[in-house]
Amino acid sequence: MPNPYRKHSPRRRDSRRSKNWTVHMPGLSACKNCGGVHQPHTICQQCGFYGGKLIVPQKVKKTKKDDKEEGKG
Ligand SMILES: [Zn+2]
Repeated sequence: MPNPYRKHSPRRRDSRRSKNWTVHMPGLSACKNCGGVHQPHTICQQCGFYGGKLIVPQKVKKTKKDDKEEGKG
């Protein structure tokens, strides 16, 4: 079995380990439907669209006016 000829210095060891230490920032792309920011190849969190199609219908927020109108009718 081949063995290392010498012990590597701490500097060399730390230098090797530091190469794999990187922070991965997810890419961001703009939504074609609403223009919001979302991760590529994922459903838009704001409108629920993916590839120009509605995948997840978003809940419509009820306002106080809507509640009053429903009560009358
Ligand atoms: Zn969107």
